[in-house]
Amino acid sequence: MTDAAELHPSKLHPTNFIRQIIEADLAGGKHNRIATRFPPEPNGYLHIGHAKSIVLNFGLAQDFGGTCNLRFDDTNPHKENLEFVESIKADVRWLGFDWADRLYFASDYFERLYGFAVELIEKGLAYVCELDAEQMRAYRGTLTEPGRESPYRNRSVAENLDLFARMRAGEFPDGSRTLRARIDMASPNINLRDPVLYRIKHGVVHHQTGSAWCLYPTYDYTHPLSDALEGITHSLCTLEFEDHRPLYDWCIDNVSVPSKPRQIEFSRLNLEYTVMSKRRLTELVSESHVQGWDDPRMPTIAGLRRRGYTPAAIRAFCARIGVTKAENLVEMAMLESAIRDDLDAHAPRRMAVLRPLKVVLTNYPEGEGAQLAASNHPKDEAMGSRTLSFGREIYIDRGDFEEVPPKGFKRLVPDGEVRLRNAYVIRCDAVIKDAAGAVVELHCSVDLDTLGKNPEGRKVKGVIHWVSAEHGVPAEVRLYDRLFGVPTPGAGGADYRDEIHASSLQILAGCMLESALRGVQPGERFQFEREGYFVADPDSTPERPVFNLTVGLRDTWGKSQK
Ligand code: ATP
Ligand code: MG
Repeated sequence: MTDAAELHPSKLHPTNFIRQIIEADLAGGKHNRIATRFPPEPNGYLHIGHAKSIVLNFGLAQDFGGTCNLRFDDTNPHKENLEFVESIKADVRWLGFDWADRLYFASDYFERLYGFAVELIEKGLAYVCELDAEQMRAYRGTLTEPGRESPYRNRSVAENLDLFARMRAGEFPDGSRTLRARIDMASPNINLRDPVLYRIKHGVVHHQTGSAWCLYPTYDYTHPLSDALEGITHSLCTLEFEDHRPLYDWCIDNVSVPSKPRQIEFSRLNLEYTVMSKRRLTELVSESHVQGWDDPRMPTIAGLRRRGYTPAAIRAFCARIGVTKAENLVEMAMLESAIRDDLDAHAPRRMAVLRPLKVVLTNYPEGEGAQLAASNHPKDEAMGSRTLSFGREIYIDRGDFEEVPPKGFKRLVPDGEVRLRNAYVIRCDAVIKDAAGAVVELHCSVDLDTLGKNPEGRKVKGVIHWVSAEHGVPAEVRLYDRLFGVPTPGAGGADYRDEIHASSLQILAGCMLESALRGVQPGERFQFEREGYFVADPDSTPERPVFNLTVGLRDTWGKSQK
C-alpha cells in the first residue's frame, strides 16, 4: 500500500464487533498476536464480495500487527484449476495485500488430515458408512424430526481402520462408502447428525496433488483443522456458516491439533444490480452473456480492474460498508461513489469528443494553428498542464448543438455563442445538412479576443469541450452500464439471465480524443471533461486507443431509468 494516511487503522477499518473481540482477546491475554486467513476455493475468479473478506482479514492483521495467510481451500478438485489459483493470487496482490511466505493449500494437509481421521476412528468418533447418498438423506431426518442411526455406526474400531485404509488404497468405487463423524443423529443441528468427513473420488487429477488421492476430505472437516494447523486465532467467515460452528468446534476439540481457533461470522456483501454467486458468475462466462471473467460489467476484481476501478477505491468501499451480522443489500451507488471520489482527486482531465460533429471556423486562417495551455486538474496545480492544438477545423459533441433547443439549453444553437473549454468563444453562423436533412457540419466564427475571458458586455454561459480535427486521435469508447436491469436479479423466481440489461454495453467507434492521449497505456485513467471517468483498455493499440467508461461524473442512474 502506498498511501500512509490510508493505512491508519481507523480509516482502513472503522471499528466493528470483530475488532472489539480481537481487542478484548489481546487485552485479556488470550492471544498476544493475531493470525487470520483468507480461504478462497479456486473454483472461479474473486469478486467484490471476496474483497470485503480480503480487506477484513488482511486489514485486521495489518492493524493489529498480526499475520494473514492466503490459503486455497482446494478440497473439491472437480471445479478447481490453476488458472483460478493464479488469478486469485494476482487479485489479492493488486488489492494491495501481501501474504509474504504464507501461501498454503488445504491439500498441503491431506496427509495430516488423514492422520486426524484415523485418530477420530481410534477414539470411536468416526466410522465408515455404506449408505448411499439417497439413503443418507433419508436417515438424516428433518428440521422437525431427528435422524436415524446408520446401520454401520457401531462397527468396531479395527474394522473401521481397515475399511478406511482400503478406501484410501482405492478398493471401493465412488459413492460406495464415506467416513462419517460419530456425533449425534438426534441433534437439533443437522450439521451434527454424523456429517460426512471423507468421500471417494476416483479419476480426478487434483491441481496440487495430482492422482495421489482418491479420498477427499469435506470442507467442514478440512477448514477448522487447517485453521488450527496454521495457528489461526480468528477464523472469519460469512453467516451461512453460523450453524456449522458447532461442527467446527467439534473437529478441533476432538483431534490433537496444536491450537484452537475461534470462528466468527459476519454478513456477506450483497450488491444491487449484480450477482455474486460463483455458480451464476461461472454461467455468465461459460454461456457468453459477458466476454469473460474480466468483462468490465462483471463484479469480479478482474472486471472492476478493467473497468478502471482502483485498489484504493475498493478498499475505501469496503471500509464504508463496514462489518456487521445484519444481512443487507448495498446500493451500487455506494461502490460508484467510492471510485468517483478517488478519480475526482487523482485522474488528469482530458477532452474527448464521443459523438463528433465537425465545426469549421471560417474566419480562422487555413494551415495555421495555436498551442493552448490547459491544466490537468482544476483543483491540483501539482498535476501540471498540457497543450491543446487549436486549428480551423475542430470537433464538438453532437449533443452540444441543437437546431431547435429545448428550454434552458445553454450550448451551441444557430446564431448563438458558446465557449470552447480552455479556448475561445465561437458563434454558429451556418448549419450544413445532407440530402436527408441531417446536420453534418457547422460553420462558425471564432473570436480570438476571448481566450480566458468574456469581452465586455458579452454573456457566454455555455462551455463545451472540443478536439482539433487535424491533431485529434481517433478512438473507440465503450460505454458500460449495470449488467442487470433490476436491483436483485433472479429474485422472486425469475431467471437472473432474463434480467440482463440489454444495453449494458454500447460501443462508440468513431470518437476523437485530444492529442495528449496519443500512445496512452492500458490502465491509465482520465476524466474526460463533461463525460465521466475512463480507463484505457488492454485492447488499445498505439494508433487507436480504446477506453472504457468507469463511472459517470455524478449519479445519473435514477435519471436514466425514468
Ligand atoms: P462458493 O459458492 O464457491 O462457496 P464463496 O463465495 O463462498 O463461494 P469462497 O472461495 O469459498 O467463495 O470464499 C472465500 C472467502 O470469501 C470465504 O471466507 C467467504 O466467506 C468469503 N466471501 C465470499 N463471498 C463473500 C461475500 N459476498 N461477502 C463477504 N465475504 C465473502
Ligand atoms: Mg465458500
